[in-house]
Amino acid sequence: MTAAQAATPVLSQDPDEFVKLDSVAKIYGETVAVQSVSLSIRRNELFALLGSSGCGKSTLLRMLAGFESATSGRIYLDGEDITDLPPYRRPVNMMFQSYALFPHMTVQANVAFGLKQEGVPRAEIHERVFEALDLVQMGAYSRRKPNQLSGGQQQRVALARSLVKRPKLLLLDEPMSALDKQIRQKTQIELVKILEQVGVTCMLVTHDQEEAMTMAHRLAVMTEGQIVQCGTPHDVYSFPNSRFVASFIGSTNLFAGTIVVDESDHVVIESPELARPLYVDHGVSEPLGMDVHVSIRPERIRVLREQPDGDSNWAHGQVAHVAWMGSYALYQVKLDSGLAVHASVPALSLAQADAPALGDEAYVAWSSDSATVLPS
Ligand code: ADP
Ligand code: MG
Repeated sequence: MTAAQAATPVLSQDPDEFVKLDSVAKIYGETVAVQSVSLSIRRNELFALLGSSGCGKSTLLRMLAGFESATSGRIYLDGEDITDLPPYRRPVNMMFQSYALFPHMTVQANVAFGLKQEGVPRAEIHERVFEALDLVQMGAYSRRKPNQLSGGQQQRVALARSLVKRPKLLLLDEPMSALDKQIRQKTQIELVKILEQVGVTCMLVTHDQEEAMTMAHRLAVMTEGQIVQCGTPHDVYSFPNSRFVASFIGSTNLFAGTIVVDESDHVVIESPELARPLYVDHGVSEPLGMDVHVSIRPERIRVLREQPDGDSNWAHGQVAHVAWMGSYALYQVKLDSGLAVHASVPALSLAQADAPALGDEAYVAWSSDSATVLPS
């Protein structure tokens, strides 16, 4: 081992910085795949990297695994600088999109493979393999070959194979992409339970926002090789910091406008798309006169027959579309200004109220705590 390969300790052993990326970048010729990402992951955290295809997620994951070297920046794991360590020297395991199980080997042999290579004694291998298979509830399938298993079962075997090596960091690249939509959600919840039970630090990469929201303790939204927001699923959904994040995480209504009243406890925004102003019951960092966008989630919008009270936070229009989604209906109301507003109305309240139907005149309304003000 050369001096550069030796893991060097760093000062910080902060549990909030169990994994730490410090200005990590990856450039392939002309392509900047990852540009200066700084990020910390806590011990035993399930962290999701969320972004659309091509934004650099896999590249970042591959740098953590050591399959790609960083063009610049440092990577630390549990207080060690691992930036220059080859993959086999890193206490990191990556579960691939395709699972990459050996087709000619049994489940048991697949899970044992890595330990055999490490020269772990036979008795210990046997014990650890069955412990891992029990954990993913595949103990009864140990003698089967991968092609005798369903997609979900293959995924659990791949997970057992990753966990059996007791990595400090587990990397999952789009772990559900080979599964049918129906079993995906069930599998997401199962996987979280297993990972929490084992107590492993995990970085999950996905382009599926529901998957990230379901599985992650915290997530980072990535676009064009950069992280644009990081936080709990709840915080990122409720307090997006940009139009991009507001539209990427869930769907939203965006109104362009200008701040016309700026107080510490409320602001008023006028939008050419709305006949009446938006009244927001909190202060914002943007100054008076600033052009902004206001985001209001569809579930915050009510659809009414009668004109609401007050002089703000409502608009008049006509129901242009109603999609029945089972537990809720998705309304599209075309405002007098021509703007389409989306509202999701719970089925229960539809049944109770005399809700407007397709083609009816309607009012959309929202409360003053529903809006998020975003930079334009
Ligand atoms: P994601 O996983 O988010 O879909 P990737 O990390 O795979 O994105 O890719 C990010 C960008 O880097 C893309 O533009 C991709 O074409 C480019 N890229 C990835 N790997 C290589 C490579 N080995 N050589 C050149 N460009 C690459
Ligand atoms: Mg990828």
